[in-house]
Amino acid sequence: MEDILKKLQGKQLTKSSIFNFLSENISSLTFPNTEVNEIIIPTPLQQPIEFRCDACMKTFVTEVSLKQHIDKSTACKSWNNHPQKDTMVKLSKGIHLVIDDLLNEAISNNGTLECKFCKCKFSNKGNHHKHYNSSAVCNNMAYDEFKKLISK
Ligand SMILES: [Zn+2]
Ligand SMILES: [Zn+2]
Repeated sequence: MEDILKKLQGKQLTKSSIFNFLSENISSLTFPNTEVNEIIIPTPLQQPIEFRCDACMKTFVTEVSLKQHIDKSTACKSWNNHPQKDTMVKLSKGIHLVIDDLLNEAISNNGTLECKFCKCKFSNKGNHHKHYNSSAVCNNMAYDEFKKLISK
């Protein structure tokens, strides 16, 4: 192919000179007669690699945009600099709901309005909670129970 194209060097290229050149050289320009026996099935374009912020789980198309996000987001930045980030707990719901559940488990018998420690019964949640303001022993026991639950 290169040899053939070299023949064009220095020639004035007009429509007819190109046509003549091609007609003279067409036989050497053809490709070997190979049979096509392979069917190529087009494959879908590869999904772009996503870059995920490990802190907030947002994804980004480029590494640069991920870095920009981390730089701009104070929370994600401090999470990324956290020495224990790899072992940190990933909460599945809001922290208030998580604490509420743990607190309820710490103070009551299976979610009932009954003190887990002195077995006093209460008519509503408010009275149940107030009980721990007035009973030091139940309050301390509840706190100890809560600590055990939260460190699980
Ligand atoms: Zn983030
Ligand atoms: Zn009690």
